[in-house]
Amino acid sequence: MNPSRSSGRHQSPQQVADALAPALGTARLRLGEPLAPYTTFRIGGPADVLYDATSDRELASAVVTARQLGIPVFVLGLGANILVGDLGVRGLVVRNVARGITDLGGGRIRAESGVVVADLIRHCVAAGWSGLEHYVGIPSTVGGAVWQNLHFLAPAPERERTIFIEEVVESVELLTPADARVTVDREAMAFGYDTSRLHTSGDVALAVTFALAAGDRAVMHRVMQENLSWRGSRHPWLEYHPSAGSIFKKIEGVGAGRLIDQCGLKGHRIGDAQISHIHANIMVNLGAATAADVRALITHAQRAVADRFDQFLEPEIGFIGEFATPNPGSPA
Ligand SMILES: Cc1cc2nc3c(=O)[nH]c(=O)nc-3n(C[C@H](O)[C@H](O)[C@H](O)COP(=O)(O)OP(=O)(O)OC[C@H]3O[C@@H](n4cnc5c(N)ncnc54)[C@H](O)[C@@H]3O)c2cc1C
Repeated sequence: MNPSRSSGRHQSPQQVADALAPALGTARLRLGEPLAPYTTFRIGGPADVLYDATSDRELASAVVTARQLGIPVFVLGLGANILVGDLGVRGLVVRNVARGITDLGGGRIRAESGVVVADLIRHCVAAGWSGLEHYVGIPSTVGGAVWQNLHFLAPAPERERTIFIEEVVESVELLTPADARVTVDREAMAFGYDTSRLHTSGDVALAVTFALAAGDRAVMHRVMQENLSWRGSRHPWLEYHPSAGSIFKKIEGVGAGRLIDQCGLKGHRIGDAQISHIHANIMVNLGAATAADVRALITHAQRAVADRFDQFLEPEIGFIGEFATPNPGSPA
């Protein structure tokens, strides 16, 4: 969900905190908290107010409270698919650290939406339940995974198709825009490539129940090692080169990265933002990149590809909060 759903009334961070305090408690509200450390890009200005939700109930309650007060609210997962503006995010940012996992039996696993996918994979593989191990190495919460319909190539050696997390989703518990708690099945999530109903509905995912199959732990560990090796040799490493994964949406049959590469832009740099030397659809933060640097680099790549190939590169990442420059999201 996006903080742009605001009442339009500007409140200072202190006013936002004062309004939220009776419901959420003063001690847990952090004013002017920089968001860069909570994103994989390590970029972004401060949230007016940041609150950690440690359970699905707290997540629902924080969102409902903000909505009722007319305060814009943004739900943050691992910040792996977003660029936060240098001017930060107005209103309330709810960092989702609701990390409960429950075994319902027979391979059905309920995960709160703040569960980190890596932790869920470890849990499921140890218990012998297969279906999530393909997504090893992808930074995501469970909520972010259903927002974007997390995907990766099918196991080696074929790697002939893309597999999506929707394939193991049984149901999703949602907080609707009308503040009702409902459980919907996979079909109702309207999953697609890089999308789900969450992009447009205003729902917040509170928890997901996965239906997994009994698997051989040795095979699962082999798949994990092969996938980590594949990723490690083709993508920059987050620990050294923070990024938000693919910057632009896939262009069917062509490849956004290939077009950027053919423009000779690998290694091209604006400020401390750089088009990765090893994957042209990934931009990395060399240390002190700003959101403005990344936006300028996005615009540069879009212009180069439009001029040379007459193709429009549409950003895949979400632009969150306030930027000093206009949004490069749509064609000029
Ligand atoms: C190095 C790297 C590699 C990557 N590789 C892949 C890959 O192979 N495949 C792939 O599919 N993706 C990949 N990604 C992208 C990213 O990992 C996914 O999009 C991931 O699902 C983002 O999850 P998140 O928790 O970080 O969401 P965030 O980035 O925190 O949020 C993204 C959006 O989801 C919304 N959201 C988050 N939680 C909820 C919730 N509970 N309810 C409603 N809305 C919510 C947010 O409001 C925001 O609009 C990669 C990213 C990186 C950095």
